[in-house]
Amino acid sequence: MFVAADDTDSMRGNCTTYLATEIIRELVIDGDLDLIGFPRLVRLNPAIPWKTRGNGSLVMRFGRGVGNKTFIGQISGKDLFCFEEQDDWEPDEDSILEKIVPLVERFHDPVDSDPGIVVSRTRPSYDFYLRGVRKVMKRSDIEAEIDRIGAKTFVLGCGRGLIGCICGMAWVPKDFTYELLAYRPQERWGTERVFDPGSIEKADHEISTSFNSWEDRFRKVAMVPGTPCPVMYGFRGDDVPDLIRGHDIIKTEPQSRWVVFQTNQGTDDHIITEFSPEEFIPNSSYLIKGTVVSVERIRGGHTFVTLSTDLGDVVCGAYEPSREFRRALDWLVKGDEIEVMGELRDSPRTLNIEKMHVLKTVDEFEKVSNPVCPSCGRTMSSVGKGQGYRCKRCGTRSDDPVVRKCIRWVVPGWYEPPTAARRHLSKPLKRMGEIQPVEFVDCRNP
Ligand code: ATP
Repeated sequence: MFVAADDTDSMRGNCTTYLATEIIRELVIDGDLDLIGFPRLVRLNPAIPWKTRGNGSLVMRFGRGVGNKTFIGQISGKDLFCFEEQDDWEPDEDSILEKIVPLVERFHDPVDSDPGIVVSRTRPSYDFYLRGVRKVMKRSDIEAEIDRIGAKTFVLGCGRGLIGCICGMAWVPKDFTYELLAYRPQERWGTERVFDPGSIEKADHEISTSFNSWEDRFRKVAMVPGTPCPVMYGFRGDDVPDLIRGHDIIKTEPQSRWVVFQTNQGTDDHIITEFSPEEFIPNSSYLIKGTVVSVERIRGGHTFVTLSTDLGDVVCGAYEPSREFRRALDWLVKGDEIEVMGELRDSPRTLNIEKMHVLKTVDEFEKVSNPVCPSCGRTMSSVGKGQGYRCKRCGTRSDDPVVRKCIRWVVPGWYEPPTAARRHLSKPLKRMGEIQPVEFVDCRNP
């Protein structure tokens, strides 16, 4: 039986992942069901204007487990396992809903959330995942699918959470990663988190399959939230035993529980790579390719690059939080060929760059001196701005000064913002097997 939950939190507190652990506690730790497969944290379209933070939907499957079981967490001091397979028996939808509803009522934000819960024997069609992670959907888009799969639902508020439930439940992992989420005891929610940053640096360095936990460039922690939610930290990576080893390394104040979720984070699943010009609309994320027309730095520390593409000219932006990443853009010049991934914003219509692939750089030249007259060997004089040169002695004209080839600081390769400025869904270069060829640590193109 699949169970999905979405839209229970707000910036003031709560967290749908915590509600998921409460559902697991109720049905598995204190109940008689097994977890089938990992609990899933499915990130949906990050360009949805009404998301709270990372647009995450939580999906679990419950039944009677058979086959191998994997250790994936601890809740209320008890070990949590998930099973590879389930037998033919399915729990009853109504009794599951009956147990979950009081938990949703207790762990949701009463003002700023629109919770949805879906309980279903059947998974929605995969197409709903693709639409949910890439496009903006309406409640009416999912109603027929809820009926088709015979799902039971529970909503509070306007119940918009049902969209995320159906789209998250529809995810069939192709590329995937894991996140070990550790939680604080309820009496500590909203207080300052106590942890040892050095132990996070150690875990990041020792565990090569982890990503996005520590920013070496500034020696800063990237895996501990600053919001008043129940999460102590999220340690992300590709290997479950490695994440659990990291959990042993990372030192924090006492935790109430921890669980490893399977996720679509770090997969680039949100990026639309094939589309027609009419389909290039705001509130989705795209991969586009083009030639640099101009680069402009504006006040506030943002950089905008105009690209000439098959879709026409597209203005692409990198903003202040992406820090050094903007420097890579600053060093682009007219004629360079690049690919960028990012969200297309409506107003102003710009593509917010999440990652850049420099494909080809042009040669850049700088003037060394006025040209030398080919007839009499004298240095020619400028006629006026943009009007070329003339030899004062014999009148010979020339358009071109003596130039030398500049060093291009940007070289072909992939570039990404620092860890803290990355989207959950953005695939880190580390997972792509790429290394950023040049670091722009503290320089700006004059
Ligand atoms: P958190 O990550 O902290 O759990 P959140 O960022 O997931 O919070 P929510 O409060 O869950 O934010 O709000 C997201 C809302 O957007 C949910 O109601 C969800 O159903 C809805 N939603 C998700 N994906 C789409 C989509 N592609 N189109 C329309 N609505 C969506």
